[in-house]
Amino acid sequence: MSSDNYSRNIELVCPTCGDSQFEYGDDIENDHAEVRCIGCDRITTKEELIQENSESIDEHAGEIGKEAVDDLAKKMEKELKKAFRGNKNIKIK
Ligand SMILES: [Zn+2]
Repeated sequence: MSSDNYSRNIELVCPTCGDSQFEYGDDIENDHAEVRCIGCDRITTKEELIQENSESIDEHAGEIGKEAVDDLAKKMEKELKKAFRGNKNIKIK
């Protein structure tokens, strides 16, 4: 089974307001880099944001299966790095 059929649904959202736009600094490669939600000004770390989004994925574990969830969490981290890399116009500093 290919994992591509669910990878396109990856989107990191703010657990507080559901916004998917974030500001961040040059240290975004670091797991502890600060990330600020544009929607509600909530400041969190990249690691925390991924963690919180993984938890919301877990709620849908019944739909896509536990293995897919673990895989998805890894993919999400990769996608996040890609998204941050390709979006250098948004910066905190
Ligand atoms: Zn927010």
